[in-house]
Amino acid sequence: DINKLWEQDKAHFVHPFTDFSVFHEEGCDIITESRGEYVFDGKGNQYLDGIAGLWCVNIGHGRREMGQVMAEQAERMAYYSPFNNLSNVPATQLAAKLAELAPANLNHVFYSCGGSVANDTTIRIIHYYFNQLGKQDKKIIISRDNGYHGTTYVSATLTGIECNNWGFDTAHQFVHHVKEANCYRRPEGMSEAEYCDYLVEDFENSIRELGGEEKVAAFIAEPIMGAGGVLVAPEGYHRRMYDICKKYGMLYISDEVVTAFGRLGHFFASEDVFGIQPDIINCAKGLTSGYIPLGATLLSDEIYEVISKPQRDGAVFSTGYTYSGHPVACAAALKNIEIMERENICGNVREVGPYLEQQLATLKDLPIVGDVRGSHFMMCIESVADKETKALLPLEANVGKRIAEQCQKRGLIVRPIAHLNVLSPPLIWTRDTVDQVVGILRQSILATVESLIE
Ligand code: PLP
Repeated sequence: DINKLWEQDKAHFVHPFTDFSVFHEEGCDIITESRGEYVFDGKGNQYLDGIAGLWCVNIGHGRREMGQVMAEQAERMAYYSPFNNLSNVPATQLAAKLAELAPANLNHVFYSCGGSVANDTTIRIIHYYFNQLGKQDKKIIISRDNGYHGTTYVSATLTGIECNNWGFDTAHQFVHHVKEANCYRRPEGMSEAEYCDYLVEDFENSIRELGGEEKVAAFIAEPIMGAGGVLVAPEGYHRRMYDICKKYGMLYISDEVVTAFGRLGHFFASEDVFGIQPDIINCAKGLTSGYIPLGATLLSDEIYEVISKPQRDGAVFSTGYTYSGHPVACAAALKNIEIMERENICGNVREVGPYLEQQLATLKDLPIVGDVRGSHFMMCIESVADKETKALLPLEANVGKRIAEQCQKRGLIVRPIAHLNVLSPPLIWTRDTVDQVVGILRQSILATVESLIE
C-alpha cells in the first residue's frame, strides 16, 4: 500500500540532494512504473517524463530487451574480478565498442559506477600520469564556476555550484575555478565574440597566475553546462580553451556524463558538435540509459601508454573498484548502444531537437520567461522578474518549483533548479510530444504568473 511505503520512505530512506524540512512536510511521489515516455506513481497518475529520470533514460523506459539482457548475463556470469589477468566478455566488448564510437585518439576505457566516480578517478589518473612523467608539481585542475561534476570528495570540489558544497569540506588545495560561459548574463555591451575573447583571456591569465605549465595539469568542462543552468558557450569557446590547454601542456577533460549517448544528436558531443578531441572523456548516465549504474573514463593513447608502462619507483597502477567493468552493467550498455543504433536515436534527436528548441522559444512571449536556451534534447527556461534588467524574482517565490508543480498537475515532469526549469527528455520524443509539452508549459507558466500576482 502506497501510504505505508511513504511512511517507510520517510523513516528510513535518506534521499540525496534533499531539503529535509520540505520533504518531511510534503513527502515525495513514489514512482512505481515507467514505460516509453511515461512514468506512473502509485496513485494512478501518469506523467510525461521531461527529464529522462535525471538526464539519463535516453532510450526511454521499460524496454523488455534491456531487462532480458541483464537477466541473461546475471544467470550466465553475474560477477567476477576484473583485476590483473582476469576479464569478462561484456566489459571487453563494450570497451572495444566505446573506442569505435569515441574520437579516434580515445581507445582505452577505465570503468567505474557513475559520473562522480568517473571524474574522481580521472583526477587520480591524471596525477599518476604526471607523476610517472616526473612532473610531480603539475597537480592543479581548473574547473568552472557553476560546473557540475559530482559529489564524491574530489568531484564535489570540481563542482563549482556553490550551494552544493555549503556545510561540506572540499579538496581545494589543487582545484581552481574560472568563470563559466553564461551568454545570457554576460557583461552588458559585450558581443558574444568579445565575451568569448574575455573568457579565454581570463582562463589563460589564471593558468599563468597559478604557475603555468609547471603547475597546472588539466582543465575540465561539460560541453554544455547542465545542472549549472544549461549554459551553451559562445561559438568557438571549447576549441580555443582546448588550444590554450595544449599551449601549456595541460590535459583537456570533457565531462560528457550528460551530453554523451545522443542528447545532442551524437554518441559523443566533444568532437562531433564542438570539434575537439579531448584527452579524456567521461560518461555515465546515458551509457546504460540509467537501467543500471555504470561510468566510463575514455583515455587517450598517450595517457594509456604512460600509465601502462613499467613504472617509476616500482609503482603499480593501483586504482579501481570491485565493480569496474561489471558484466551485467556492461551487457546493458552494449544492448543500449545496439538499440540506439538500430532505431537511429541520434537521428531522431537531430530531427526533433531543433523543433523542440524552436517551439520552446515561442514561450519567450510570456511575462516571466527571460531566456529559453540549450541545444537539442538539453533545454532550459530561465524565469525573471524583469525581462529588461534580467532581475530575478526573490528566492522565496520559488518560481522554478511552482512551475514544476503546475506542470506536474497537468501530467508533465520538468526539473526545477532555483529560478530555472530544465528539460532533458528521453530521446524518443516526437514532434507530437513536443507540441503537447510546450502546450502544458505555456499553461503552467501562465498559472504560475497568476499565483505570483495573488
Ligand atoms: N558530471 C555531470 C556533467 C553530471 O551532470 C553529473 C550528474 O548529474 C555527474 C557528473 C555526476 O554523476 P553521478 O550522479 O552519476 O555521480
